[in-house]
Amino acid sequence: MSALGLGTMRFKGRENAVETIRRCLKLGVNFIESAAGYGYESPEENADAWVGEGIKGWDREKLVISSKIQANLGDENRDNGLPVNTYDGAWQAIENSLTRIGTDYLDFYLLWSLGSDQMYEAANNGPLQAMREAKDQGLIKHLGFTSHASNDKIIGWLQENPDMDLIIVYYNFFSRELDEQGTYGPFEKAIAWAHERGIGVGTMGSLYGGMLTGHSPAFANVFPGQPDITLQEMAFRFLLGNPGITTCLSGLNEIAHIEEDAKIVTELGPMSDEEGLAFVEAFREMTKGEKMCTGCNYCKDCPEGLSIPWLMQFYQQHDIFQLPAVNERIGTMTTTEAYDPYRCIECGQCEEKCPQDLPIIERIKRVQELADLYRKTD
Ligand code: SF4
Ligand code: SF4
Repeated sequence: MSALGLGTMRFKGRENAVETIRRCLKLGVNFIESAAGYGYESPEENADAWVGEGIKGWDREKLVISSKIQANLGDENRDNGLPVNTYDGAWQAIENSLTRIGTDYLDFYLLWSLGSDQMYEAANNGPLQAMREAKDQGLIKHLGFTSHASNDKIIGWLQENPDMDLIIVYYNFFSRELDEQGTYGPFEKAIAWAHERGIGVGTMGSLYGGMLTGHSPAFANVFPGQPDITLQEMAFRFLLGNPGITTCLSGLNEIAHIEEDAKIVTELGPMSDEEGLAFVEAFREMTKGEKMCTGCNYCKDCPEGLSIPWLMQFYQQHDIFQLPAVNERIGTMTTTEAYDPYRCIECGQCEEKCPQDLPIIERIKRVQELADLYRKTD
């Protein structure tokens, strides 16, 4: 499995998908993480089908291909796998993936975004049995799941299902789990746990949904003598420096990005232990003395329906971490009610509930200033 994996959720249609896949394969990216649910328009137009066209002519043995279904309650959709909750439904979805990708077997078949006890129950109500039978028949080589759940949940599911060979978790240097004080700490428990048992780990959100791109003045002095280092370089090299991480997924759809990412991964490689420590320390320094939002969501009942954790993220990403990619997002935030900082009526309810004692209203006012600054005027 290549250290850089191709995530397929950002394809801009069939033509873009095929072009992206072929460029990736030429550059040595051999892991493609697909799902019929990505880009689904019809049984013929979806990421699985596009992967099928993209890999035509390539030596199948050299490719590592996965697809997935989401086990959950609700009306079953066997065509796109969102969701599937019966034995028959899962078998149908597996057969659809094999047919659309045009392959006799899938290297991995995953439960998609396993995140709650309800989803786990749904998976155990038939879908997992179908996946295991398909594995016994050689149609699937390995099982696994993707998840945004907590370390403890992920480890618990792995303990109960020792035949899982791969987990894909949302992880990047920016979204590391927070410790109870709300400061960034090395909480990579599930990754380390899996690694110790020979379970592969992929990362999704390796570039934090495109936020870790470009140059940040806040990070410019992390590596002396490398003032031009980009956020994407730091992000990939940080992940590769973790021995528990097998592959970093990136939702690619532009040739320039594919070439740049592949170059970072193949030519620059992981951060050394020393670089990694310097990096983590620099990150701590940046947040020292700053009260950080932990995303706990205790403030969720804003009377104006504001998504306060997101507003706090915009503040942090702009003022503390100086991520250039956030500017454009801030510029469009007033078009979404939940992100519109001007909706705040300064009632103060959120501040009373915030365990971090954040000056939420003051930060929202700062976000208002930023919204003005970056708003696009036609
Ligand atoms: S102070 Fe503003 S953000 Fe906080 S709960 Fe009131 S309206 Fe919502
Ligand atoms: S309660 Fe405070 S720390 Fe928790 S999400 Fe809201 S703003 Fe962030």
